[in-house]
Amino acid sequence: MENFLDYFSKGKFVLTYCKLCKKNIWPPVKNCPNCLNTTMRKFPKQSIGTLLDVSYSSKDDTFFGVVDVHNIKLIGTIVIDTEENKEKITNLQYGVKVKLTHCGLINNGYEIFFHFVIIQ
Ligand SMILES: [Zn+2]
Repeated sequence: MENFLDYFSKGKFVLTYCKLCKKNIWPPVKNCPNCLNTTMRKFPKQSIGTLLDVSYSSKDDTFFGVVDVHNIKLIGTIVIDTEENKEKITNLQYGVKVKLTHCGLINNGYEIFFHFVIIQ
């Protein structure tokens, strides 16, 4: 069985799902932490989520956010591509939709990164 990080090294998003609990689990695990049932891997074709919170790093001139996607919470970079989206993120209101555009490994494979863009 391939390590889930191998998928991230190829830029492919993977999570695990427990059929008994009907829950997505992050980070991916072999057995459900709730019922110990063997989990299955899911490769979502599209990952659209809700931006829950956002923080700005002046050091990196980058926005970071907590995103609820597939009922799991991920922390990632919110890529600002337009002035309109910059406005949306600085006056963040609940319900801003973002889409996962890139994921992968950095720091010699020690860290997973996620990039989201605002779609609505
Ligand atoms: Zn379970």
